[in-house]
Amino acid sequence: MIVLKFGGTSVGTAESLANVKKIVEGLDREAVVVVSALGGLTDRLIATARMAADGDMNYIPECEAMARRHYDIIRAVVPEERCEMTCSAISPILHELRRLYDGVNLIADLPEKTLAQIVSTGERMSSVIVAAMLPQATHLDSLSIIRTEKWFEKDIAATDLTTSLIREALAKDDVIFPVVMGGFISSDKNTSEITNLGRGGSDYTAALVAAAMDAEVLQIWTDVDGFLTCDPRIVPQARVIDTMSFVESMDLCTFGAKVIYPPTIYPVFHKNIPIRILNTHRPEAPGTFISDSHSASRPPVTGVSALRDEALVTLRGKMAADPAAISTRCFNALARKGLAVHLVARTPEVNAFSFAIATPDSPAAIRLLKEEFAPELVDGLLEVLELQSGLATIAVVGDNVKSLQGGAQRLRTLLEADGITIHALSDHASETALSFVVEGDESPQALRVLHRALFEASPADGEPG
Ligand code: ADP
Ligand code: ASP
Ligand code: MG
Repeated sequence: MIVLKFGGTSVGTAESLANVKKIVEGLDREAVVVVSALGGLTDRLIATARMAADGDMNYIPECEAMARRHYDIIRAVVPEERCEMTCSAISPILHELRRLYDGVNLIADLPEKTLAQIVSTGERMSSVIVAAMLPQATHLDSLSIIRTEKWFEKDIAATDLTTSLIREALAKDDVIFPVVMGGFISSDKNTSEITNLGRGGSDYTAALVAAAMDAEVLQIWTDVDGFLTCDPRIVPQARVIDTMSFVESMDLCTFGAKVIYPPTIYPVFHKNIPIRILNTHRPEAPGTFISDSHSASRPPVTGVSALRDEALVTLRGKMAADPAAISTRCFNALARKGLAVHLVARTPEVNAFSFAIATPDSPAAIRLLKEEFAPELVDGLLEVLELQSGLATIAVVGDNVKSLQGGAQRLRTLLEADGITIHALSDHASETALSFVVEGDESPQALRVLHRALFEASPADGEPG
């Protein structure tokens, strides 16, 4: 069995849906097809919900336009004999959407739960349409199969339960492959309230299915030729990476490469199920193959990426001269509340210890550290807890990054020569990544400088490597 995931960029128009149909019809084995909402729809569902909550009555024509878009797509891609049935299947979802918007407008508020119900309509409708477009397929309701539980304030997949529900659903006698289901959407395992796996989460749904079914491969179909050496919107010269390891893909995605939603890698990595990134608009392109392979002969760097909206927390004082004493307590305190740290920079010579964190998490991080280090702050062993925001964390990733000639210091020199301010640098926190904290608005330029030096320069130009 294989699992294919088609993102919003692959199911946005009648033309791209025709490609999806061709790809799925060409398969020679059992497959589960996981689809996102029609391209751009989730953003629009959210924007319209905000409009309704803010009293902007334009939410009504917006809602009607979204409905029209779905009916138009149905007429364009679903065979005539199934059109009416498909329209009847999505019409209650559209009515529910309108009622939700009216409710939000009435109470002038947008509770999280209601927003989750609103955004779920995207994948609920697209999956019905894709199933109806195919000559023979079974539609599975993701809300009853993909279950979540609370982890601090977040909804995370309840993996054991989800795995058994997926297996049970796919083992039923009346299932005809391919099976089509919506990505991203889920429901709470205790309350059955609608939840989701986070923006971009359809990749993760597909990985959960692939792992549950011990699939041969997880194919992620998108709108680029594969995993590229950098975000092509920032570096148009970025090129396709033919093969990469799970760890490299995990590092690049954690540090902002949008092509795969980061949690996706774990379930398939544990089962050693390879991922292939493919282009729906150019299915003949070989794409990128991600597996557990490591090759010592590969170049030191596989790709570069950037996480925007980062903040740097710095602890200063005598205690910061001993990073070991501070780091365990610091990270345990943050981990207890589910806060992830992206870069750690120890500069004991100036009694400073810094880490990068997503800006929205930074107020909670400061609060937790003030509690954790209250005695040391009173005694003066720690003097300051500083917070600097508006930054970006840049990552230079490769299984062989340790063999990069000149290491992080060389890259630092290159960046600084281009006028980029480096607030922190980490060259020993990870075996597979070097990372830098730079000003947020300098991050695109930093990526361009690094990409040029690492992937575009000829050895004669002094390529680090
Ligand atoms: P989908 O709708 O298929 O899930 P996404 O927009 O989530 O698509 O992800 C694909 C996009 O990710 C590409 O169009 C590309 O602009 C962007 N991207 C960012 N970094 C990378 C990278 N390193 N390699 C490939 N694509 C990237
Ligand atoms: N439709 C959802 C989003 O836009 C999930 C996904 O596309 O993966 O975030
Ligand atoms: Mg995506």
